[in-house]
Amino acid sequence: MPNIQAVIFDWAGTTVDYGCFAPLEVFVNVFAKHGVTLTLEEARGPMGMAKRDHVRALLFLPRVAALWNELHRRAPKEADVDALYGEFEPALMRTLSQHAEVLDGVLETCAWLRERGIKIGSTTGYTADMMRVVTAEAAKQGYVPDAVVTAEDVGVGRPQPFMLQHNLRMLGVYPPRAVVKVGDTVADIQEGVNAGVWSVGVVVGSSVMGMTRSLYEALFPGEREEACVAAERVFLEAGADATIRTMAELPALIEELSARDEQIQVPDNPYLLLTPGPLSTTKTVKAAMLRDWCTWDDDYNRIVQQLRADLVALATGQTDDYTAVLMQGSGTYSVESVVGSVIPNEGKLLVLTNGAYGDRIVRIAQVLGIAYTQLDFGETGEINPDILAQVLAEDAAITHVAVVHCETTTGMLNDIASVGKIVKARNRGFIVDAMSSFGGIPLDVAELGIDYLVSSANKCIQGVPGFGFVIALKSALSGCKGLARSLSLDLYDQWTAMEQGHGKWRFTSPTHVVRAFCQAMQELREEGGVAARHARYAQNQRTLVEGMRALGFAPLFEQGQQSPIITSFLYPDPAFDFQTFYEALKRKGYVIYPGKISKAPTFRIGNIGDVHASDIKGLLRAVAGYTETSS
Ligand SMILES: *Cc1c(COP(=O)(O)O)cnc(C)c1O
Repeated sequence: MPNIQAVIFDWAGTTVDYGCFAPLEVFVNVFAKHGVTLTLEEARGPMGMAKRDHVRALLFLPRVAALWNELHRRAPKEADVDALYGEFEPALMRTLSQHAEVLDGVLETCAWLRERGIKIGSTTGYTADMMRVVTAEAAKQGYVPDAVVTAEDVGVGRPQPFMLQHNLRMLGVYPPRAVVKVGDTVADIQEGVNAGVWSVGVVVGSSVMGMTRSLYEALFPGEREEACVAAERVFLEAGADATIRTMAELPALIEELSARDEQIQVPDNPYLLLTPGPLSTTKTVKAAMLRDWCTWDDDYNRIVQQLRADLVALATGQTDDYTAVLMQGSGTYSVESVVGSVIPNEGKLLVLTNGAYGDRIVRIAQVLGIAYTQLDFGETGEINPDILAQVLAEDAAITHVAVVHCETTTGMLNDIASVGKIVKARNRGFIVDAMSSFGGIPLDVAELGIDYLVSSANKCIQGVPGFGFVIALKSALSGCKGLARSLSLDLYDQWTAMEQGHGKWRFTSPTHVVRAFCQAMQELREEGGVAARHARYAQNQRTLVEGMRALGFAPLFEQGQQSPIITSFLYPDPAFDFQTFYEALKRKGYVIYPGKISKAPTFRIGNIGDVHASDIKGLLRAVAGYTETSS
C-alpha cells in the first residue's frame, strides 16, 4: 500500500475564490451583451472545464442555441465561441486579482502536507495568463504549490486526466493511488476518476454549492447541513471517493485513505437504505468481497467453520446442543429448507400468522404438499397464546409450530417466549423465522425452546445478500435424514456435508458474500455484540418515532408491540402521496420502504444496518423539509 505522496488541488472554489464567483459573473455579463440571459445555474454547469470549452458548452446548451438562432437568424458556430471568448478573457483578467483570496484552512493543511513530505500540485480551468495573476496573489498570502498545470501545457482540459498526470510527471510521483485530487466541481471529480487517483470533493465554498460566504454563513444550521448534503451527493454521484466539508478535514481523510485496505477503492453510498434488508453495510464489509476464494480450499472452509461456530455462540449459551447450517439463496430459501426438510410425511405444521412473512410459510407448506393449519391473528393483531394452547390440545396431528419473530410486514414484534413455552409444554417442534431480528435483538434459542431458527446474511448481522442460515437443535435435525422434498434445499444433507467436509457446502457457495459476512460478524463483536447493537437500533427507533410524531406522522403501533427493527407510519392525511415523498427523501439521500398491509395506508422506515443517530436526525430534517414545502 503506497502512502499518499501528493495532493493535487484545483484553484478557484477549492484553494482560492470562495464559491468560484470570478468567472461566473463574467460569463453572465458577456452572454448578456449578446442578448442571452444565462441563469447562474446554467453558467455554473460546466465549471471546472477550460474556459474556452466552458464558453462553447454554454453557447451550445439547447436553450441558448435556440435563442441565438432567433437573435442572429442562424445557429451558433465556432467563430461565435471565438468572439465570446475574446470578450470573456480580458474581462476576467480585470477582476481576477480581486478573486484570489486564499480559503480558510488551505495554508494550515499545506503546512501539514509539507511536514509529511507530501507534494502539492495543481490543475485549473484558467489559462496560463490568468494563472500568472492568481498565483502571484496567492503567493502574497503564502500559498505556493510545487506545480501549476493549465490546459495549454497539455493541449486539453478537464474532464480528461492529462493536466493531473502532467503534475505527477513534474513531481515524480506514482502510482496514481498514492495521489489525492481535491476539487469543487463535477469536472474536477471526473478528472480525478479518469486519472485513477483518489478523487475528493470539498463542499463549503465550492462551485457545486454555489453560495457566497455571507449567504452560507447566514443560513440556519439545519439549512447549512442540507446544502452540504446536497453538494456531497453531487460529488459522490460524479464518482468521488470521498467528500470533505472544508480543507481542515483533509489531513484526517489522507490518514484514512492511507489506511484503506489494500489500495481498494470503495465509494461512499449516494444514499442510505432505511429498509429491512438488503441494508446499508459498512465499507469494510463491502471491501471484504474484493478477493476470490476457492470453495474447496482449506482457507475458505476454515472461515465457514468458524462462522458456523460463531453463529451458534450468538444464538445460545448451550452451544454443544446446537449447530448452524448455511444455505445458499435469500432468506426464504432457508425457511423453505427447514419447512421442507424437518416435517415428516405424516406430520402437520401449525403456522401462527400476522403478516406477509407468516403467510409465506403457509404458502411454502401448500406448494410442498405439507399438511398445515393456519392460525391468523390479522395484520395488526397480536398472537394469542391461549388460542395456540387450545389448538394444540385439540389437534394431536400437529407436529411443528412456526412463527415469525419480527413481522417485517408491519414491524410487530411477536412474543416468541410465550409461544415457545406452550409449544414445548405440548412437546412439538418449534420453528422461528427470526430473519429480521437475529443479531439485533438478544435471544437464546435454548431458553426459548426453539428447534430451528432461521435468519439471513443481509439483515441485522449487516452482511450482503446471498445466503441464509439455520440454527438447529442437533437432536432434532439428526432425525431428518431423507425427509426433504427438495434436493438443493435439503437441510439435513447440507448439514452432514458441512460436518464431513469441514465447512464444505454441497453446491457452489457464495464465497464473496461469506467473506463479507465474516467481516460483518467481526464488526458486530467490535460494536459490543447483540446487546450493543440492539441498543443502537432501539435508540434509532425511538429518535425516529419521536421526530416523526412531531412532524405529524403517527406510528401504526404503540411501543409495546413495536420492534426496534422497522416502523410503520400511517399516512398523515388522505392527500399524502407516498411516491412524491419517497422521491423527495431519496434526493436528500434517504431511501425508505412502502407499506405492505391492506388495513391502512402506511409506509415503513427501517432502523437496521450501518445506521446511526445522526442518520436518523438527517432523515428527520429531510422529512421536515418536505412537509414544509408541501404544506
Ligand atoms: C427478509 C425476511 C424474510 C426473507 O426474505 P427474502 O426476500 O427471501 O430474503 C423472511 N422473513 C422475514 C420476517 C423477513 O424480514
